[in-house]
Amino acid sequence: PSPAGRRPIRDLPDELISQIAAGEVVERPASVVRELVDNALDAGARQIAVRLSAGGVRLIAVEDDGGGIPREELPLALRRHATSKIASLAELEAVGTMGFRGEALASIASIAEVNLLSRHTGADGAWQLDARTGELRPAARSQGTTVEVRELFFATPARRKFLKTDATELAHCVEAVRRHALARPDVGFAIWHDGRLVEQWRAADTPAQRIADVFGADFIGQSVDVDHGEGQLRVHGHAGVPDAARSRGDQQFFYVNGRFVRDKVLLHAARAAYEDVLHGQRQPVFVLHLQIDPARVDVNVHPTKIEVRFRDGREVHSAVRHAIENALAAPRAAGAAAGDG
Ligand code: ADP
Ligand code: MG
Repeated sequence: PSPAGRRPIRDLPDELISQIAAGEVVERPASVVRELVDNALDAGARQIAVRLSAGGVRLIAVEDDGGGIPREELPLALRRHATSKIASLAELEAVGTMGFRGEALASIASIAEVNLLSRHTGADGAWQLDARTGELRPAARSQGTTVEVRELFFATPARRKFLKTDATELAHCVEAVRRHALARPDVGFAIWHDGRLVEQWRAADTPAQRIADVFGADFIGQSVDVDHGEGQLRVHGHAGVPDAARSRGDQQFFYVNGRFVRDKVLLHAARAAYEDVLHGQRQPVFVLHLQIDPARVDVNVHPTKIEVRFRDGREVHSAVRHAIENALAAPRAAGAAAGDG
């Protein structure tokens, strides 16, 4: 006799599969912002506007001037495991785009109302797709894509209960865009909340200019250039001098091949590099990029892709540590002259 209550094994309904996947990827409005901005960057956008209402719970709209989506592919964009970014295991292992799972839009559409509006390069006009009804109709806009996400978690009230105040959710959304902005100085970003412009970072000529725009002009005078290694393993960016350290570690940005990550190996290497020059609980400030042969890092570790796994963590650790140590030890020729402005 089978244990009481056991039911036969069955396939889950498609909608529920997407809702389960959404649980992993979408913790809060900021998670949606991150996915949509990833997509805009993958589409080659030069300008990205993020419009939010009620901390993003009521509305998240991300508008870009990228390549757009052809009309006939709009329904595919919402389909689970459908992507234009990879087509094989070999491509996954050398992935150069932010996205590759083909899951974000499908997941988001299962827990919110989604509207896609896009005009593909060279197309005569724009098209709009309502994810709920499947209705596709002509619309108006210049080249690019707008994704609107309304009433996040309306279908999953348990998740909605975990959200904090609008102000807190907004702060997380802004942080999500800031992470992208620091990595892509060449792209302009604007964030609006309830009709008010809350942040704007214009396309900058240099990474240092963007960092100054994001952290404040003082940072450049209080940081050193980092550039260590080459080709298959290079560490570059800006590291704050010990005096610029803060009580909170909220200005520590690591990117691996352009993707923001939180990684123990990298954070530990940074801590080790500052060990002798920072005292107490002071936290260093830095924006550092690791360029590494994609074959030596696995980005397909976590659905949110915020974690990575290095094939040789020790080598990466030592490269990052030395990159920072050397930069902090070098005489601050140009940097010192440019500082105290
Ligand atoms: P992924 O990014 O992993 O491919 P998504 O669900 O985020 O999966 O997006 C699905 C597809 O929709 C993408 O592969 C891309 O072709 C298209 N797409 C999504 N957003 C945009 C955008 N802003 N501009 C152009 N194409 C987009
Ligand atoms: Mg994506």
